[in-house]
Amino acid sequence: MSQFTDVSFDGLYGEAIMDHYRNPRHREPLDRADMAAHEFNPFCGDEVTLRAQFDGLGRVDRVSSQSQGCSIIQASASMMAEGMEGKSAEELDEMARLFRRLMQGRELEPGEVAQLKDLVALQVVRRYPVRIKCALLPWTALEEGLDELKRSGKSG
Ligand code: ZN
Repeated sequence: MSQFTDVSFDGLYGEAIMDHYRNPRHREPLDRADMAAHEFNPFCGDEVTLRAQFDGLGRVDRVSSQSQGCSIIQASASMMAEGMEGKSAEELDEMARLFRRLMQGRELEPGEVAQLKDLVALQVVRRYPVRIKCALLPWTALEEGLDELKRSGKSG
């Protein structure tokens, strides 16, 4: 038990979130990165370091998503990393856009929901509006990393 009371989730979506929180994926560091970003929220101590390598076809080959803080940021960072595998920079942009819409409670087309796959589980965080920023922090890192990648002209 941490010193802070954390939120709890039940149901299938809740189980998916808690599974990623307890067994986070893609936490191993990467020595080399084509895309990297770091985000920190001083108000709650949430922190994420995102690094990714792209293959010769411009798709995510390896991803490292290291987070610290509450259960929500850790689950979101892990689920996002899983969703990033095999995607091009353009597809990552689209995934981030759709995820933000989901968290804002906007209506998504069935095809858009299908694109988000397991990430739709994180919509239960909307029950705790002040925690939505915890879920979005890794995505801010992703968007910054993508912006930087575009500026550097490395992506297609
Ligand atoms: Zn948090």
